[in-house]
Amino acid sequence: MSLEQNIAAVQARIRQAALACGRDPREITLEAATKVQTSDTIRAAIAAGITVCGENRVQELTAHLADNAYAGAAVHFIGHLQTNKVRQVVGRVDLIESVDSARLLEAIHAQAQKLGVVQDILLEVNIAGEANKSGFSPQELPQAARQAAGLPHVRLRGLMCIPPVAAKAGDNLEFFAKTRQLFVDISREMGDNGHNKLECLSMGMSGDLEDAIAMGATQVRVGTALFGPRPPMGTR
Ligand SMILES: *Cc1c(COP(=O)(O)O)cnc(C)c1O
Repeated sequence: MSLEQNIAAVQARIRQAALACGRDPREITLEAATKVQTSDTIRAAIAAGITVCGENRVQELTAHLADNAYAGAAVHFIGHLQTNKVRQVVGRVDLIESVDSARLLEAIHAQAQKLGVVQDILLEVNIAGEANKSGFSPQELPQAARQAAGLPHVRLRGLMCIPPVAAKAGDNLEFFAKTRQLFVDISREMGDNGHNKLECLSMGMSGDLEDAIAMGATQVRVGTALFGPRPPMGTR
């Protein structure tokens, strides 16, 4: 299948999933997870209708920015970000989805302040409590949201989660539901103070986007279903 056909197929899945639970498909943004893709593939995806690209490695982000590969689309950072690399990301992306520690939050704020910008962010929640994954625990999350709310050069827009790879449909419903509840709780506590506006719930990937949409995702991050399988880690 061509990239255009893959995009159409994923958009059809999103539409179906939204309609199946009584949601307006336009509430859900398809974000292309572009790791390991070339600048030309990214340009082709944008030409074929992709409006948001998600990068998870600083090195690839920097190379594609230098190539102007994202022209016409928004770019988000979705990977683990080391504090010593915030300079390469803050002010260069529309949204950092993977804010996973108090220390990183402070480093992003300091860099945004230095640049005189306000950086939009999501907090990442380690919703399945996996030892090998980063993110705030559900218990730590409210405190992290309060910390973010007190930093004028970041704007908290919502939450992101990466649950375990789903073996079959339904496997991650529980994790998506929990993340949605955290999103509701934090939105309620923070209210709409005119600065931090929680409207993005980023969850669901190639294998489980239907379940994420059923549980309230406003953005799904899709790689494999758009671009095909990636080479295994370590062989890149
Ligand atoms: C690669 C990646 C995705 C997309 O995963 P697929 O299963 O290929 O759709 C989503 N989110 C993040 C953070 C990723 O790194």
